[in-house]
Amino acid sequence: MKIFVVNCGSSSLKYQLIDMETEGVLAKGLCERIGIEGSKLTHTPTGKDKFVLETPMPSHKDAIKLVLDALTDKDHGVISNTDEITAIGHRVLHGGNTYTESILIDDDVKKVIRECFDLGPLHNPANLIGIEACEAAMPGKPNVAVFDTAFGMAMDEKAYLYAIPYSYYEKYKIRRYGFHGTSHSFVSKEAIKFGELDPKTAKVIVCHLGNGASISASIGGKCVDTTMGITPLEGLIMGTRSGDIDPAVIQFICNHEGIDVNEMLNILNKKSGILGMSGGVSSDFRDVGKAADEGNHKAKVALEAFEYRVAKYIGAYTAAMNGVDAIAFTAGVGENDKAVRKSICENYLGYLGVKIDDEANDVRGKKRVISAADSKVKVMLIPTNEELAIARETLEIVNK
Ligand code: ADP
Repeated sequence: MKIFVVNCGSSSLKYQLIDMETEGVLAKGLCERIGIEGSKLTHTPTGKDKFVLETPMPSHKDAIKLVLDALTDKDHGVISNTDEITAIGHRVLHGGNTYTESILIDDDVKKVIRECFDLGPLHNPANLIGIEACEAAMPGKPNVAVFDTAFGMAMDEKAYLYAIPYSYYEKYKIRRYGFHGTSHSFVSKEAIKFGELDPKTAKVIVCHLGNGASISASIGGKCVDTTMGITPLEGLIMGTRSGDIDPAVIQFICNHEGIDVNEMLNILNKKSGILGMSGGVSSDFRDVGKAADEGNHKAKVALEAFEYRVAKYIGAYTAAMNGVDAIAFTAGVGENDKAVRKSICENYLGYLGVKIDDEANDVRGKKRVISAADSKVKVMLIPTNEELAIARETLEIVNK
């Protein structure tokens, strides 16, 4: 059984072909600049040389065709033909209020993905294009949609409703959806298994700390709350996103700078976060860390504020669940930055009985318990793997 995992952006297409017997990656790759001059395919077959092809890709259909050619090529291919692919799993950003789990794609599903274009204006149209390109290239093959919002659909009304007139929820489905759902679901389940916790009752907080960052609270793998909202802008301070702010700031800046709400939202999404707070140093945590070490005060405060907000949400989510059994760190910063993990745990979580084992915490990108044996809460590093999560979901749906 081989599952082809596809993640389409507006001008990009990331893919992996995964052998589900071993859950090993047979090949992975990326098409960049689709529809723009300078299109490029980078195909990396496991155990063979990387293959790079610079050729025009006017559409995602062209990109898919080149990817399938690369996968079946006699030199850098990993399968003899596409019949070996059992199904295709698509990362889809927004399933709106309709889908609480992954689903086999048919016309109704595509209609809902289309209806959610205004909730996910950058991703949903690209996701649908990717689905249609795969349908055209491999007719009759099952395609499965794995929604980034599905995990958050388990939240209670008290967690997902905003305190604004109820009619907006009824009219426009305005609510907290949450994103990174595939990662939060995968990491919380892995944490339960790896930490040998009770699969039904374990209270887990997952800190997905990357360029985009979010935290979730879940009990027995079911989402109780999560920091991102109707869009990924809410919650933590991120690489370029502000996270939580008083909405009145928007009105104030718009009035004083003579800009409109759309421009302001662009600033909050793309020019804020640690990039904005550091005075423009970088959106990359490594660069901001380096600047802080070299004495840049704004960079230092940006990182402190990032950690402070993570800690505040861990406190809030411990209250939301009336306890916490495990805290799992994941994604670029969570998996690689031992100083951030240590600082969050030691500066803010002592009251929970959290104790970090420095030797265990000296690790990157490997599944490991990083708390001391007498820590009251298990703290873990659990690498996320959204592609594998999508492949597992896809296989489960086609096996049903
Ligand atoms: P996304 O998928 O949201 O783009 P990632 O999960 O890939 O983000 O995380 C990217 C972030 O991880 C970058 O800001 C990068 O600086 C950070 N990162 C990667 N490696 C390290 C490291 N060794 N130390 C600190 N931060 C790191």
